[in-house]
Order: sequence, then structure tokens, then C-alpha cells
Amino acid sequence: MLPLPNAPLGIIAAMPEEIEQLLEQLHQDPSMEMVSVGQRNYYVGSLWQQPCIVTLARIGKVAAATTVAALIHQFGVRAILFTGVAGGLGADLQIGDIVIAGSLMQHDVDASPLFPRHQIPMLNRSCFAPCPLLTEALMQASHNFIASTLESATAHTPVRRLPKVHLGLIVSGDQFISDKSARTALRAAIPDALAVEMEGGAIAQVCYEYDIPFAVMRTISDAADEDAPGSFSDFLNHVAGVYSYGVVHHFIRASL
Ligand code: SAH
Repeated sequence: MLPLPNAPLGIIAAMPEEIEQLLEQLHQDPSMEMVSVGQRNYYVGSLWQQPCIVTLARIGKVAAATTVAALIHQFGVRAILFTGVAGGLGADLQIGDIVIAGSLMQHDVDASPLFPRHQIPMLNRSCFAPCPLLTEALMQASHNFIASTLESATAHTPVRRLPKVHLGLIVSGDQFISDKSARTALRAAIPDALAVEMEGGAIAQVCYEYDIPFAVMRTISDAADEDAPGSFSDFLNHVAGVYSYGVVHHFIRASL
């Protein structure tokens, strides 16, 4: 099924805190309806006059892949946007920075020696590229969010540093990386990786196979080390949802 031009944008996150505010906004659309498929709730309506479907995929690659497949098959989305948090791997990344995927990989795929490490068996590739136009729009939306919301909110208060926006490789796997040895091994195996999470690479694979444009935005919640469980939950409650909402708001408003 080819998506129609006015088909909805699918917006996915892994954890409820990441889409709470977007769902509140969507509930302001009186024609919004909820459709349940495969133990997921799909909220179908309009966000800032754009047809959208917002859903919680839950954590991990299988959860993300099945949710994307449902968005494509059942709802005919024209594009997919993923928003959430990730562990920082790149040297100049700090908690609160935004990483937009320039490419994605699944760091836990290893069918060697049958196929090279990280290559998806029988697909002949290990890296997936998001849609350049959506990615550029997401970069712009992130900069606009920081400039309009965070800069003005901190204008009279000294802050250590405003968040930076990075574009680069995001790696995904079914592991929460929270110790130094796992972090070091990941950085050694994939030196270019900027951030690690648990869904993006799976979404990228499904979108590649179905030829659906997609983009991925992640806010850095932890440094994928021993402090990750603590800094992660604080961050999730206080910052992640605000960033997701702010960036998606700018993204959708700009595409009107
Ligand atoms: N403690 C959490 C577990 C969340 S798993 C809970 O109880 O619910 C981590 C989620 O955040 C995943 O959706 C993943 O994509 C992202 N993430 C953030 N930091 C990560 C890290 N260091 N390693 C892997 N995934 C991370």
C-alpha cells in the first residue's frame, strides 16, 4: 500500500513519559480516536492541524519493529518520527544534548562467520539512512526549540551550557548499556557511534524494507555507564517529555 499524500505522520516513543505531553495535545482534537491493535494503543487525530498517529511502542527492537509495521499496514502512515532518550557515547556529548540520527545500526546483530558482524542477514547491509529532508527538518526543529524555549527560559539565569544538537550514528540493541566495560566494548566495536538506545535500528530496518521515510531524535539521558540507571530516571521524569514535545511541536508547525 502506497501512503496517500495527506496520510498521517506516525509518532512513536518507547516510554510513556516521552509522549505524555504530545498525547495531552492530541486529546484536544475532538475527533481524536484510539484504536487498539496488538496490545498497542494508536491515538489517531491531528496535532497542530497535521494528521498524526501517536503511539507507545514499548522498549526494545521487536516492540519497535512490530509497532512500525502496524503503523504502515493498518494506518498507512506517510512517514515515521521516533522521539525518545539515549545513552551518550560520543566524547563531546553531554546529558541534555540532542542527537538526530544521520544513520542507524543494530549493534547486537552478529551472525558471523556466516555474515559480517553487524550486517543484517540476507539484507546485505548494516547501516540504514533516515530521510534527509525529515532529518534536516528535525535538526532545524531542535535548534528552534532550544532558541525559543530554552534560551529565553534561561535568559536571566546563569546556566552552565545550553544543549547542543548533534547529527550522527545511533546504534541500537536489546540491552540497556550501564557499565563501563559494555560502553568501552561498544565504542571499540563502533567508534563512530554517538548514542546508544534500544529501538532506532529496528525502526530503520522496517522503514527501509517498506520504503517509508523516517527520522529519529534522541535526547541524551545518561552516559551509558554505572550512573545511567540514576541519571536516566531523573532525566526521564523532568526533561525528556519536555524536549520531545518541544521539538515535535516545532517540527510539525514548520511542515504546515
Ligand atoms: N529503567 C527503565 C529501563 C528503560 S530501558 C525502566 O524501568 O523502564 C532504556 C530506554 O531508554 C530504551 O527505550 C532505550 O531506547 C533508551 N536508553 C536510554 N539510555 C540507554 C542506554 N544507556 N542503553 C540503552 N538504551 C538506552
